[in-house]
Amino acid sequence: MLFSEITAKFMEMEKTTKRLELTDILASLFKDAGDDLKNITYLIQGKLAPDYENTEFGISDKIIIKALSNISSLSEEEINKILYKNGDLGTTAYEIGSKIRQRPLFKENLTVKYVYDNLTLLARSSGHESTKTKINIYKNLLMDSSPDDIKYITRIITGKLRLGVANSTILDSLVLAFSDKDYSDAIETAYNFHPDIGYIALLLKNNDIERIKNTGPDPLIPFKVMLAERLKSIKDINEKMNHNSAYEYKYDGLRTELHKKGDVIKIFSRGLEETTMNFPDIQKNFKDSYKFDSIIIDGESVPYNPDTGELYPFQMVSQRRGRKYGITEISKEIPIVMFIFDILYLNGKSLVNLPYPERRKILEDNFNDNDYFKLATRIVSDDENIINKFFEESIENGCEGIVAKNTSDESVYRAGARGWLWIKFKRDYEKELADSMDLVVIGAFNGHGRRTGAYGALLMASYNDENDTFESFTKLGTGFTDELLFSLPEMFSDKIVMKKPARVNTKIVPDVWIYPEIVMEINGAEITVSPAHKCAYNLIEKDSGLALRFPRLVKIRNDKKPEDATTTKEIVELFKMQKKTK
Ligand code: ATP
Repeated sequence: MLFSEITAKFMEMEKTTKRLELTDILASLFKDAGDDLKNITYLIQGKLAPDYENTEFGISDKIIIKALSNISSLSEEEINKILYKNGDLGTTAYEIGSKIRQRPLFKENLTVKYVYDNLTLLARSSGHESTKTKINIYKNLLMDSSPDDIKYITRIITGKLRLGVANSTILDSLVLAFSDKDYSDAIETAYNFHPDIGYIALLLKNNDIERIKNTGPDPLIPFKVMLAERLKSIKDINEKMNHNSAYEYKYDGLRTELHKKGDVIKIFSRGLEETTMNFPDIQKNFKDSYKFDSIIIDGESVPYNPDTGELYPFQMVSQRRGRKYGITEISKEIPIVMFIFDILYLNGKSLVNLPYPERRKILEDNFNDNDYFKLATRIVSDDENIINKFFEESIENGCEGIVAKNTSDESVYRAGARGWLWIKFKRDYEKELADSMDLVVIGAFNGHGRRTGAYGALLMASYNDENDTFESFTKLGTGFTDELLFSLPEMFSDKIVMKKPARVNTKIVPDVWIYPEIVMEINGAEITVSPAHKCAYNLIEKDSGLALRFPRLVKIRNDKKPEDATTTKEIVELFKMQKKTK
């Protein structure tokens, strides 16, 4: 396929923010993609491989500017001026590409494969000479491309493609392109166990529905973890579970998937990021403690004192994230214990379709607690007094609360889903507004007075996972330290976009649109019905949505993607819970 065909589709996509139209355009691209299908599914996400492979281009805006200056007769300063005017490096590259005189004709037959291969070379070049190599590859691509092509290639390299399509839209487009029946559920499950759109695309193209249905967990490939719903009392939980549940401590640490295949042990975070580098101690301790051929377990890693068994706050673990140096020292200082609460795979066999009690039994048969790995503490009971005592005990032991686990025959491991098979219960839930929320920044308002030069408030949205949109829910202006407040313009600078981004649903128009990428944890006083906001619009009341009153920032959640934010559905549940408490 020619790259210009992708470019044409990208240009069409930029003209719409409607999800159905975006889905149609992508489906027609996929139908024409031929052998390039897999690579195209990555390119439209601005990537070269599935997320969990962490392929990064490693090229800064500054290097692109240098390359553009190098190839044109313009100085870096002049290019910066054009960039300032456009606010976008892609458009700047387009302008430079159009301006270059005496350039040899660009390749009429620039193929997707050629671009993909060169981008791979660019991403892979590392070490001493890598900047030079990257500049050269980019310059060659610029010479070979039409101005429109280089606009999108530049956006891909700089991580600013921003076509407004999330994985769910891409999956829908693949279904539309290749499947006449609705296998959406099977496809979603396959994707949640094997979150590689390219892999799913090929199965669909080959009409290999059987393999899609049989796609389960695979050692060394991160899966999307199962999540919990929340309810405000043990009584409600018991009722919801039909009195079929066990209760486990809810540990306050870092969600950890541990995979082993042969001699290789890998650790992944909830966001599918490989964190083996950050936890060499867990890796080594597992290797020293157990002898499985292959296994996948799910649990929570918590810093602790092995002498007293005392659990430490989560922040002590988060210090390790992103650290490349001093890990050996830090792991000596703060030992980690992994509390294992599920098993998905053992010695060549998937266990995800077994009910939870059987999976727990397999864990008990195969694991002996030691200093580094312990099974989650639990009870099996439906006696409210016993459960309440267990809850108090969990808090005394440094946990956040408890998680109820359904014990019926239906209690499979449901990857990526927040279903009623797991229900969490925390102390805060007894208060008026239960639990904090993770919301996405979609816009900002200029600050006045003391906040001149910073933002006065941020427009925050919930994630509607049914139609893949971000719905405005509150205006956040409290809870920021001055330092954080004045650092926001810089933090947002490369996320500002000129018009309302695709997938954003709001009546309120902010001074600045922010592309939905940043997630913040927010507390609030109350959820109310509001005609101003689009969250759950028309669901509770006609011509009204839901809004959060008196929101307050807790912290920025760099570990969450916008699609991991609190969903509109959850907010509706919280609203109902809050009404019940009143
Ligand atoms: P929260 O901020 O309340 O942890 P969350 O959105 O991060 O919520 P939830 O799915 O709502 O995640 O809560 C479940 C989380 O609790 C899991 O992701 C996991 O990290 C943690 N957890 C701790 N102990 C357990 C346990 N025994 N079983 C399941 N999850 C547990």
